[in-house]
Amino acid sequence: MPTREPAASSFTKGTGSNMASALKAEDLAQFREMLEGLRTRLKGDLDGMTDEALRRNMPESSGNLSNVPLHMADVGTENYDQEFTMSLIENDQDTLGQIHDALGRIADGTYGKCEECGQPIAKPRLQALPYTRHCIECARAMESQG
Ligand SMILES: [Zn+2]
Repeated sequence: MPTREPAASSFTKGTGSNMASALKAEDLAQFREMLEGLRTRLKGDLDGMTDEALRRNMPESSGNLSNVPLHMADVGTENYDQEFTMSLIENDQDTLGQIHDALGRIADGTYGKCEECGQPIAKPRLQALPYTRHCIECARAMESQG
């Protein structure tokens, strides 16, 4: 039984005819500004929070940093506050990473496309969430999957 393989892939993507509603250069410039502003703000927040978290971790009078154990386990009861701050920090770091990636996509021309389905992400969504990688449909689908 001869197996018939398709001679060439009939699935050619990126022929250029279907690239509707690509973002204009001025849109991209605007989003880049938003992302950079966001990044600056988040970095400021992060610096503040990291300072605070570290300072809380230090015995007040000690100026000798080299002997201070930084293990969370030693800190004990003040952990609630600290864990909350730490989770904020992690969250911000995550967002910063996404902002960084988004700026990279602007640089290489793939910004504004859904990573899941390849469709352009609606502009209002990008304006609300400039570092998103997914269109609203895919984002919803992924959320409902947990
Ligand atoms: Zn999508």
